Amino acid sequence: MSKILKNFGLVILVFITISAVFALLNPGALQKSNEIALSTLVQKINDGQVSKIDVSGSDLAITFKDASKATSRKEIGISLDETLKNYGANPDIIKQVIVTVIPPKSSFLDWLTPILFILPFVVFGIFFWMILRQSKNGPGQTFNFLRSPAKLFDSNNKTTDRITFKDVAGLEEAKEEVSEIVDFLKNPQKFLDMGAKIPKGVLLIGPPGCGKTLLARAVANEAGVPFYSMSGSEFIELFVGVGASRARSLFETAKKNQPSIVFIDEIDSIGKVRGVGMGGGHEEREQTLNQILAEMDGFEKNTQVIVMAATNRPEYLDPALLRPGRFDRRIILDEPDIKGREEILKIHSKEKPLAPGAALREVAERTPGFSGADLANLMNEAAILATRRAKKQIDQIDILESIEKVLLGPERKSHLLSEKEKKVSAFHEAGHALASAFLPNAEEVRKISIVSRGMAAGYTLALPKEEKRMRTKSEFKDELTVLLAGYTAEQLQFNEISTGASNDLEKASLLARKMVTKYGMSKLGPISFGKRETLEFIGYEQETERNYSDKVAALIDQETEGFIKQAQEAAAKLLKKNKKLLNKVATILMAKETIEKEEFEQLISAKTIKRGGV
Ligand code: ADP
Ligand code: MG
Ligand code: ZN
Repeated sequence: MSKILKNFGLVILVFITISAVFALLNPGALQKSNEIALSTLVQKINDGQVSKIDVSGSDLAITFKDASKATSRKEIGISLDETLKNYGANPDIIKQVIVTVIPPKSSFLDWLTPILFILPFVVFGIFFWMILRQSKNGPGQTFNFLRSPAKLFDSNNKTTDRITFKDVAGLEEAKEEVSEIVDFLKNPQKFLDMGAKIPKGVLLIGPPGCGKTLLARAVANEAGVPFYSMSGSEFIELFVGVGASRARSLFETAKKNQPSIVFIDEIDSIGKVRGVGMGGGHEEREQTLNQILAEMDGFEKNTQVIVMAATNRPEYLDPALLRPGRFDRRIILDEPDIKGREEILKIHSKEKPLAPGAALREVAERTPGFSGADLANLMNEAAILATRRAKKQIDQIDILESIEKVLLGPERKSHLLSEKEKKVSAFHEAGHALASAFLPNAEEVRKISIVSRGMAAGYTLALPKEEKRMRTKSEFKDELTVLLAGYTAEQLQFNEISTGASNDLEKASLLARKMVTKYGMSKLGPISFGKRETLEFIGYEQETERNYSDKVAALIDQETEGFIKQAQEAAAKLLKKNKKLLNKVATILMAKETIEKEEFEQLISAKTIKRGGV
């Protein structure tokens, strides 16, 4: 559209320039060579030399009896007859001259004046017509930029490069959960008959480049319903109020075409915690966010619109977004482990001629910490390298040499874990896992991984068997032990401590302090110390007022320290007793990077006494 306008403007400019040039030239052009004064003409008429005068406006074309010609001008508004008489011509002789009146020749200049007058109106007219043409949907949407620039993916379009679940490697759990959502949309009646509510919001959480956008695009194709995709930053524009308006129009369209999916990529760019981080665009963001929330709240029970969103940084999301009834379903996408990396490499080498000797497994082993995007990039670099070396196929050496290139590349966000780092996190996580498994009041281990997730180098996923509303002192004590087991395992194995435990220590300290000041679980007895304020952030508490003496403060510190010490000793005792098992779990972790629940239970089965029946 802007291109058309630009061209249009150019044409007008040229037109005006040409006109101006003509306007300047024209008077000169009228100045014929043989122009005579009226008095001379009258004299010649009186002398009987003039045979003919052609009158055209004020221009006079004179033909003499000897056939020579001349021009002259008369006064405007007075007839030729009168003019000549005023100059003293003999009326009798004038009658002998043939006078022909020719309608004035329309000069270019005569046209130009009205054109120059009308032109601006025409230009404005066309401009408004172009704008109005885009508001087919009636008033309120007159200006295109207020409407959402959401891209519509048509799942029936077989021609474009369709991404399906097959193109997404690994991420099995995420794919399964997403398929469930697709199912909701395909067979809503089934769920409604059962009295189930269709979920409103699904949040994809994972580090950059792990395939969130890719998965969403696969959903677009698999779901077979309209899929409206928009990036968080596209809501925010120069003008205030555009974001909210775009959100409104996006949801309007989606509802009109339900069942449908709305996908908001990188929602953190609008969904930042409100009230935090001042500066420009703050209000605008809030308005946009409120609009999205209002739209989601406005869904009726059977509205078949599912809102999907993706983010790298869930911790920055406004808690209001995460409340039940909004993005209450969360799907976590991990960075790929060895197996996942191998599969991703396979997918991205599909259309590339790999030499028979190429072993993607080895590449996967050498790229811990690479995201899906890094691996895709790696295969591309390998193909480029092989081409530059004038090969017909990509050899293993091309791929291995490209690892370095990707590592040095500008867009990488993850970093390659060294063998040493891998080993440290393997022991650290194995420590957590064993403590979890052997302590009677600890939670059940679901998954152990040394694939980095966010800031942590690895993680052990442990969840309570059933949801609990009440916690006991014994549970807290075991939880402290589990938290410190990572730190302890590192110390035990390497006689050295890494920074990897900092998050555990923070959590443990907070918990131990709460046991003293909030739950009355220490020697200080059943007193609640300090005033706390719960922020809306999930589970985040802040002490806002100290209502105890310095002496008590010292005691609180002492008790807190006591809990931590106890936990540390318990962890050390437990891990020393199971040193062999610790080694075994860590070794397997180093090789496979993740251990699932079943495998872990088999590993420790000989020793498990506490959970019969699992
Ligand atoms: P983000 O999570 O940051 O949205 P993308 O979905 O944009 O990441 O992934 C970037 C690219 O990395 C994809 O286009 C794809 O080529 C590759 N990729 C990432 N994860 C996978 C995966 N699990 N399987 C296959 N390719 C992947
Ligand atoms: Mg993305
Ligand atoms: Zn830890």
